[in-house]
This record gives sequence, structure tokens and C-alpha cells, in this order.
Amino acid sequence: MTKYNPVTPEIAERLKEICGAPYVIYNDAERLEPYSRDEIPGTHYRRMPEVVVRPDTTDRVAAIMRLANSELIPVTPRGAGSGLSGGAVPVFGGIVMAMDRFNKVVELDTANMTITVEPGVIANDVNEYLKPHGLFYAGYPMSVEMCQIGGNVAENAGGGKAVKYGVTSRYVLGLEMVLPDGRVLNLGGKLLKDVTGYNLIPLMTGSEGTLGVFTKIILKVIPRPRFQHDLLALFSTRDQAVAAVPAMITGTGITPVSIEFMDGEAFRQGCRWLNDPLPLGRAGAILLVSVDGNDPGTLADQCEALGVYLRREGADEIYAADTKAESERIWKIRRSIPEAFSQLYPRQSGEDIVVPCASIPDVVTKCGELARKYGVAIPCYGHAGDGNVHSRVCAPADWSDEKWDETLPVLLRELYAEVARLGGRISGEHGIGCKRKPYMETVVSREYLDTLRAIKNALDPNGIMNPGKIF
Ligand SMILES: Cc1cc2nc3c(=O)[nH]c(=O)nc-3n(C[C@H](O)[C@H](O)[C@H](O)COP(=O)(O)OP(=O)(O)OC[C@H]3O[C@@H](n4cnc5c(N)ncnc54)[C@H](O)[C@@H]3O)c2cc1C
Repeated sequence: MTKYNPVTPEIAERLKEICGAPYVIYNDAERLEPYSRDEIPGTHYRRMPEVVVRPDTTDRVAAIMRLANSELIPVTPRGAGSGLSGGAVPVFGGIVMAMDRFNKVVELDTANMTITVEPGVIANDVNEYLKPHGLFYAGYPMSVEMCQIGGNVAENAGGGKAVKYGVTSRYVLGLEMVLPDGRVLNLGGKLLKDVTGYNLIPLMTGSEGTLGVFTKIILKVIPRPRFQHDLLALFSTRDQAVAAVPAMITGTGITPVSIEFMDGEAFRQGCRWLNDPLPLGRAGAILLVSVDGNDPGTLADQCEALGVYLRREGADEIYAADTKAESERIWKIRRSIPEAFSQLYPRQSGEDIVVPCASIPDVVTKCGELARKYGVAIPCYGHAGDGNVHSRVCAPADWSDEKWDETLPVLLRELYAEVARLGGRISGEHGIGCKRKPYMETVVSREYLDTLRAIKNALDPNGIMNPGKIF
């Protein structure tokens, strides 16, 4: 284990020289505290940084990395802190590098259909910028209004449009990044194909801030679909709802933009959080299915075909969101579920398991079995159309911390063993971070872990880049 050095007042002074004094937080517990955590509920995954720096140029990032590398001080890059795996938590203290001042759109190139952005641009703002140009960036995590593009790239974020459009990595064409020793590496460009050596962009996309700091990102954009239609299918039970997912595409010949799943409890909590009395509370589970395109007639036909399919699969009722406002109302409820749960239970664990799509029903059934066996609640929701289930393991209010700390790892190992048996993984989009680190070996081989470690050691031999994550 590398021994890290503390951030001394002399180091803090040098950081101020690099960034400018107003952009360095040191010796100020109240202002450092928000950088000690991400959006994982509770107090388990928290650690105060010794110093926070907020650089705004690649040269400054490089100078900070050179200093940290020579002084053996850990550096944790931080986007908006909306992560759900502890990725931005500085588990060894040291420097937190907040990227919020890297907030510019550098260039829109309509001829090449690319947008070049700094990593601190908020994901939603990319689309707001593109809208007047009739263009579209398909990333749509449920945290879209708060998370940064840099954080999306670092986690290879998924979200609510991935069934049709795929996850972040499909859109990253180029990266400028600062390596742990301060060298600047440029990858890719405005190219739609490139086999010049190893394909490093997919390696860096999803590297959770452990291999370097992104300072510029080139994203592919596509024409904006003019219309989106949303269907809500209500089922009596969650087993029925998830059973309808795997064959939806082959059964209708339609690839929806999204197939989102919410069990009754998740949906009700989302409504409660927003104080929205949407009168669907009686449903056991809901599928939110969206299609998009440019031709209203085709979309109407697709909704009709999906409706017929969903009824055949047991949906009791189907509603179409007729207006933009209704669509936004439903999606807002869906986006609010994580936040609603995080406030509700003092002891809970948000899971991000991903299985082959056809195994979604098995994993939801397993969650039900485990809930009964261990006496906990496990509501489920998520991006069912791409096999990604967010189950929340929630302890009853009268459990002690000791009982929770004893039970959770046993329950998770049992759940993950089933996930592995189904050919799945423990994270589909939130990443490993420090939260899932102890469970890596439940789903991957020693050879896989050794290969990850070899890459890490080659690029970061001193282990200063976001240590304590992944392995
Ligand atoms: C309500 C809610 C809903 C969510 N829904 C989704 C969803 O649908 N899909 C999904 O994928 N995720 C979702 N998330 C999780 C989270 O929003 C994503 O993981 C997001 O990509 C994190 O972005 P961020 O800017 O907040 O990054 P942070 O949380 O600040 O950091 C995440 C990781 O990225 C690294 N990092 C950040 N910026 C850089 C950079 N410039 N260079 C290198 N490394 C960097 C950090 O070191 C850390 O390891 C949700 C979270 C919440 C709270």
C-alpha cells in the first residue's frame, strides 16, 4: 500500500500559486465538507479532503498533477458529486479536484456533427445548447439536471434513452486528459472510425477518475427527433411487468427509446417526493415505454402496436401521455425515485445490477425472495430495457447499525451470486467506486482483476489517482 503524504501549508500555498487563492479551499471544514461525499445516502462513504482545488485550464490541472505525483498526494477528480458509488469521495484525503469551472462549450461543428465541451458542463445544458440547431446528444441519466459530462464519461453513464441510443461511450469521439504524472494525452478526434493502435477511449470512458482527469471531450451528436410519445402500462404485480420486458422488441418489431420499470412502491415514493397526486398509486408495477421519431403517423402506429403487446402481456391499463407537460410529469416522477428513497430509510443500499435482458424477471424475483428471507424491503425500479435493475435494500426502522452492517454483506453476496449465475455484473452504470469494491471478485475472474491492475499500475505507478476505488 502506498504511503501518502499530507497536504502541508507549503503545498497549499503552491496550489494557490497554480490555481489562484480564491480557487483553493484549505483549513476550512465547513467549505470542505460538501466535497466529502457524493449522493450515496447515509454517512458510511464519507471522508474529508485536505484541500479542494478548482482549476480552469488544462495547464493548471497538469501542474497540480505534477505536484501531487512528486509529493505522493492522492487526487480525486470531482464532477457534480451526483455519483452513487462513492467515486468522488476522497477516501485517502488529499486533494479533491473540482471540475466545475471547466464549464464551457468549446465548439459546435455541424459539418462533422460533433460538439466539443469542457467536462464541467452540466449534461442537460449540452442538449439545451443543441436544441436550436435541431441536434441531439442522447445521454440521459436521471440526474441529467445536475451531473457533469465529465462525470458521465468517467462513469460511462447510462440512463433513460439507452435502449435505442446506447450509453455514453457510444458518443465519446475524442478526449483530452491529464495523466497522473501531469502529461497531457489526446485521444481520438472528430473521427467516426479509428484503429490507430489500441482503442483507448472506451478504456478511459468508465475509468472512474482512476487513470487521469478529462479536460476536454468531443461528443458525437445526431439529428433531434421531433416527437417523443410515452406510454404508461399498469400491471397488478411486478413479476408480470418485468416478464413483459424481454420480448417487447422482438414481439413488436419496435425498438423503444426507453423501457423503464417502477414497482408500485418506487412509483408511489417518487409521487410522494414531488407531492404529485398522480392517481396510479394502486398499480403493483408500471412500465414507462417511449418511442421517438419524426413522423406522427408512424409513432401512433408504434404506440398502438406496443399497447396491443402490453395488454397481451397482462397490463391492466395503458395510458398515453398526450402532451409534453404530461410526459415531463411522468419522467419527473421516474427521475425523482432515487432522491425519494434516499430521504426515506436511515439504512439502505442502492444497487445497480445488470443482467442479460431476458434475465430481468429472475433477478427481480430473487430480490423478492431475499427481502422475505432477511426481513428487509427491496423495492425495484430501473432501466429494464437494458437489463439494469436498481434495487434498494432498505432495513426496517427498528434495526440497529450492527444488525444492518452484519446482514447487508451477506444479503448482497447472495444477490450477486445469482447475478453472476445469470451472466450479469454488479454495476451497469453507477460504477464500482468504493461502495462495490469489496464485491468485485463475486462477478469477475482473477485474470480480469489482474488485467485492470496492470493497466492502473502502468499509468499511475504511484497510485495517486483516485485511490481506493474499483480494486
Ligand atoms: C437522482 C439520481 C439519478 C441518477 N440516475 C442515473 C442514471 O440514470 N444513469 C446513470 O448512469 N447514473 C445515474 N446517477 C448517478 C450519477 O449521476 C452518474 O454516475 C453521473 O455520471 C455522475 O456525474 P457527476 O458529474 O456527478 O460525477 P461525480 O459524482 O462527481 O464523480 C463520479 C466519478 O467521475 C469521476 N470524475 C468526475 N469528473 C471527472 C473528470 N473531469 N475527469 C476524470 N474523472 C472525473 C470522479 O472521480 C468519480 O469517480 C444518478 C444519480 C442521482 C443522484
